[in-house]
Amino acid sequence: MSMPRGVMREATIDVGAIEDNVRQLRRLIGVEVIAVVKADGYGHGAARSAAAALAGGATRLGVADVTEALALRRAGIDAPILAWLHAPGASFGEAVERGVELGISHLDQLNAAATAATADRPAVLHLKLETGLGRNGIAPDDWALVCAEAARLERLGKVRVIGAFSHLSNTSADDDRAAVRAFEAGLGVAASAGLAPRLRHIAATHAAIGLPESRLNCVRLGIGMYGLSPFADRSSADLGLRPAMTLRAAVAAVRRVPAEHGVSYGYVHRTDRETTLALVPLGYADGVPRQASAAGPVRINGRTYPVAGRIAMDQFVVDMGDAPVAIGDEAVLFGDPTLGAPSATDWADAAGTINYEIVTRIGPRVPRRQVNG
Ligand SMILES: *Cc1c(COP(=O)(O)O)cnc(C)c1O
Repeated sequence: MSMPRGVMREATIDVGAIEDNVRQLRRLIGVEVIAVVKADGYGHGAARSAAAALAGGATRLGVADVTEALALRRAGIDAPILAWLHAPGASFGEAVERGVELGISHLDQLNAAATAATADRPAVLHLKLETGLGRNGIAPDDWALVCAEAARLERLGKVRVIGAFSHLSNTSADDDRAAVRAFEAGLGVAASAGLAPRLRHIAATHAAIGLPESRLNCVRLGIGMYGLSPFADRSSADLGLRPAMTLRAAVAAVRRVPAEHGVSYGYVHRTDRETTLALVPLGYADGVPRQASAAGPVRINGRTYPVAGRIAMDQFVVDMGDAPVAIGDEAVLFGDPTLGAPSATDWADAAGTINYEIVTRIGPRVPRRQVNG
């Protein structure tokens, strides 16, 4: 199969898959969904992923930082957006003005949010409790005090606490259960302080699917909405999900070489027979991990081959034996395995990482083309 003429490399993004995945997960999980579109929608494009997730039934978006939230506003997205990771000393004027909800991890952030409020616009907040992950969040020892202060600021009309949240480690069901219990205790403390956060969320995709008691009344879904599985032992198809990103390139050169021919830097691959080499114009500058050299799978003309030798900055080689291949033929690195493509998880395994990193690091040199399958 050949690539469209003139296209060297591209990532197609199936927004229909994202919409279906969110709909499917919402049905399974049964509570409100915050669609997580940080890091440019895990490489899929933040605005298009957000729009597809909202169409699939998500009611709110989640990003790491306010800059990402404001970019979504500029792209015309007016759904609620929560941002939870802030620069030290950040001020939140523009966030409050643009209706960006803030995750609050300590008293200084609470005060900065209150300072950014205007007479007719309180800062809208989700208080984050640290429950064992060791990242951000209000320390358990400070929780009662911060809740009391938030309640006071709420009575003054400066803030509105609409959510409380935390984040799980996915270490084991027992570890996650302990964190859920710590969070529920924190909710009790918040209620005693006079807060009534409507949204209570602790689960991301892994726990939302695997630990029903963590669902509370809201979950934050990232990897699952893009159609990838966070489980080592369950595939996308097992979860009823369709991977949204397909990474592919047009074979850029074809060369017939004899046995003992070196391939790519360092000659870590040498041909063991007369064979055909196909050049694929994607490299580590595009986010194809160099760690997957001599291992990452590539689908060309109905067969899957490992990368031959080292992945370079812009390109790598596939050793195809006597299989037919022509310049312009499609080389698929990953996509939907039910259609024969390798998966992002296969690449993650080849590189010693996780599928999250594979899709998120696909670089800006790879054009994204939106499709709706
Ligand atoms: C990234 C992130 C998520 C989404 O996690 P997935 O495993 O991709 O579902 C949820 N919550 C927080 C705080 C995150 O940083």
